[in-house]
Amino acid sequence: MSKPDMSKLASLSPFELKDELIKLASSDADRLMLNAGRGNPNFLATIPRHGFWQLGLFAMRESERSFSYMPEGVGGFPRREGIEERFDLFAREFAHVPGVSFLAGAVSYVRDQLGLNAGAFLYEMCEGILACSYPVPDRMLKLSEVIVGQYIRKEMIGNHPFIGEFDLFAVEGGTAAMTYLFNSIRENHLLKPGDTIALGMPIFTPYIEIPELNDYKLVELSVDADPGNHWQYSNKELDKLRDPKVKAFFLVNPSNPPSVRMSDESLEYLASIIEERPDLIILTDDVYGTFADNFVSLFAMCPRNTILVYSFSKYFGATGWRLGVIATHRNNIFDERIAQLPEAARKELHERYTSITTEPDKLKFIDRLVADSRTVALNHTAGLSTPQQVQMVLFSLFSLMDTPDSYKIAMKRLIRSRKAALYREIGIAPEADDPNAVDYYTLLDIEALGGKALGPDFVKWVLASVEPNELLFRLAEESGVVLLPGRGFGTRHPSGRVSLANLNESDYAKIGRSIRKLFEEYVEKYNAATGNKADKNVVKK
Ligand SMILES: *Cc1c(COP(=O)(O)O)cnc(C)c1O
Repeated sequence: MSKPDMSKLASLSPFELKDELIKLASSDADRLMLNAGRGNPNFLATIPRHGFWQLGLFAMRESERSFSYMPEGVGGFPRREGIEERFDLFAREFAHVPGVSFLAGAVSYVRDQLGLNAGAFLYEMCEGILACSYPVPDRMLKLSEVIVGQYIRKEMIGNHPFIGEFDLFAVEGGTAAMTYLFNSIRENHLLKPGDTIALGMPIFTPYIEIPELNDYKLVELSVDADPGNHWQYSNKELDKLRDPKVKAFFLVNPSNPPSVRMSDESLEYLASIIEERPDLIILTDDVYGTFADNFVSLFAMCPRNTILVYSFSKYFGATGWRLGVIATHRNNIFDERIAQLPEAARKELHERYTSITTEPDKLKFIDRLVADSRTVALNHTAGLSTPQQVQMVLFSLFSLMDTPDSYKIAMKRLIRSRKAALYREIGIAPEADDPNAVDYYTLLDIEALGGKALGPDFVKWVLASVEPNELLFRLAEESGVVLLPGRGFGTRHPSGRVSLANLNESDYAKIGRSIRKLFEEYVEKYNAATGNKADKNVVKK
């Protein structure tokens, strides 16, 4: 590819660049494209899906108990009375069918472990899967909120001390969560154009792009993770949050793309900053939290200040389902700040929400999110579709019942062995074992890898003579391998993001070999250009 092309490509966003890379990588019809740029996993949780289909069949039986004298295909609503007994008969009759014993276990877990009414649960699930009623309550179905809340507690709070309750809003994935949050935060004057927000970098690109939109016009300040220290934030970087000019801190934890969770020390340090900055809004996107052991979210550390976003997409391989939740603590600064807004703003918001409640001033921030998500006036038909909520509940119960976390262990084994295959073939060992690494992605950092293999002079030469995107384009064109540039996520070093979630192990070995080939070629070029005699066959453990 010629030089002017490269400079034009430098101005593309990472997702536009990805499209260009895919075009190149798929240009050779005889070769399989290996797209490791996608975050979409190539695995999925089967047991809670089996449960979903079997529950659907049970719910159909329930529906067809009504109007059964009509042969035209008219059913009715399930009946609350006797539903538990009818389910027991169903579970016994089909005990051998995949998913049925999971469902039976789920019903007993809900009754015995969570102390909920099994009949009420079955009724909510049947009505939900038949999708014959609007979602009521609109924020989330009642028992569904309790059960998904338990899952969030287990995975995001764990054994961390936690006082009080939190509310959930079931949404169409992390994507909708972000869209709704940015909008309601602005509508409710929690952030206004010109306000400064801190972003924990590197970060999932939309968090950089959305605040820049004309709709928001927020000023961004980066809090940079240090690649030299396992991608943790130094205290000095976190100290930027002490500046009262900074109104909010948005972060992805565990991070995307470095895929490490914030260390316990940083969590504690940030919590101590919050004592000094009780007004700071935190938005933590913890969609990768479930890939870590004993994960503790900032939501557990600073519940009053923190909005939690969680998505079921990655962990359950469920991107097509569009499942996510927003959580806020019942005792939070958002409701307090709204109550303390200047008179004019309070009056404006009173008007805004007056159509949906007699006491609009008391409407909680999380319920304002629900209303705003449907332009307020359509609040009565707001909410996530009920079959989506049912699948979300079954995913949650699957995880709650899975002791000792065999799904999580299997998942981690899968992505770790892919990572091992990749680095084995590159011939340069990854960073030594980091207890905070989650490994959903791995960042191939030119400085780190080149430095490890051949030292700083080689790195200096590469950075001076090779455009980083050139490496990504050559990988795409010559080997059909697509990686995303780390730069687009706000990394300071040139790097490529490899998703470890969406290809098979043998593909990662192939990607590793392609990278190795490119590396050896550049070592030869380096030797030719500098007269050095670097060993291109070097392998670094
Ligand atoms: C994948 C991803 C999302 C989007 O999740 P969906 O639930 O599929 O919309 C949000 N945030 C981060 C950090 C992600 O990686």
